Amino acid sequence: MLIVMDKDATAGQIAAVVAKIEALGFAAQPIPGGERTAIGILRNPRPVDPALFLDMSGVTQAIPVSRPYKLVSREMKREDSILQLPGLEVGRGRFVIMAGPCAVESEAQALTIARAVQAGGARVFRGGAYKPRTSPYSYQGLGKAGLKILKKVREETGLLIITEAVDAESLKLVVECADIIQIGARNMQNFALLRRAGQSGKPVLLKRGMYATMEEWLMAAEYIMAEGNPQVILCERGVRGIGEHSRYLLDLSTVPVVRRESHLPIVVDPSHAAGRRDLVPPLARAAVAAGCDGLLIEVHHEPEKAMSDGPQSLYPEQFTALMQDIKTLRPGNWP
Ligand code: PEP
Ligand code: MN
Repeated sequence: MLIVMDKDATAGQIAAVVAKIEALGFAAQPIPGGERTAIGILRNPRPVDPALFLDMSGVTQAIPVSRPYKLVSREMKREDSILQLPGLEVGRGRFVIMAGPCAVESEAQALTIARAVQAGGARVFRGGAYKPRTSPYSYQGLGKAGLKILKKVREETGLLIITEAVDAESLKLVVECADIIQIGARNMQNFALLRRAGQSGKPVLLKRGMYATMEEWLMAAEYIMAEGNPQVILCERGVRGIGEHSRYLLDLSTVPVVRRESHLPIVVDPSHAAGRRDLVPPLARAAVAAGCDGLLIEVHHEPEKAMSDGPQSLYPEQFTALMQDIKTLRPGNWP
């Protein structure tokens, strides 16, 4: 349930509502909003009777929240969320490009690609130091040494850093060096990791699991937000489809549906969906046309030598050309 306060409600009236929610044994979560204060009721095992609040002074509405996800839902928060990163805002009409290699391989590789994507218009550099690989024999990433390289990229270029945490141990280290923590598709329902990412207080990009329904994905985001971290970006990266023509099936219907269901920003990763570079530009353009808040794209200057995901990595020139197309498709509001 969402308790909506009068726009002139006093701090005392708001505190009284919070106290009543807590006295009932539930959790109260104030929801910041432009023109009104609202207070969400969480952790109530059964529906709450609106009459308990409607006669309190300063309360204008008590709205039942029908969705299983609460903090994530647009029912709880009407305006689009906006994430504040150092020098960069994400969401509510801003458009962000995050690009870089699948994995950090060396300082020279990371810096070369970082400079190329920055010239093309990226504001965030992606690169995995911890790689969740299907095969235990595949390249697993440089670990701590990779994070050190990412720090260097940040210092040298000013690009913000997004990198994946695969478990509690890597999360601790990632939090120290990244601006955005990536939770990968394979960990979307690793609830212990989601909780820790929520406790970190850092912005989190949550990829959709390749077998997850939209509701499961939004519930995973709820785990992060329920720990008190409102800084969540959703990332559609495709689900298991049929056929071998693409690696996954990019489900662009989630862009407008997430926008309707949630106030959180949604970005699209066409690279992992495609699995091959010729499909990345058309899927990226389609994602932009569908209304996403940004893109996460793999780029490598020598994809034939890449330690992971070379076949889907764009050459820097292809990335630059794609950025031009996207600026035409979606002019204005680029950070
Ligand atoms: C990645 O971004 O490199 C990655 C492993 O992606 P996903 O979790 O979507 O497979
Ligand atoms: Mn990859």
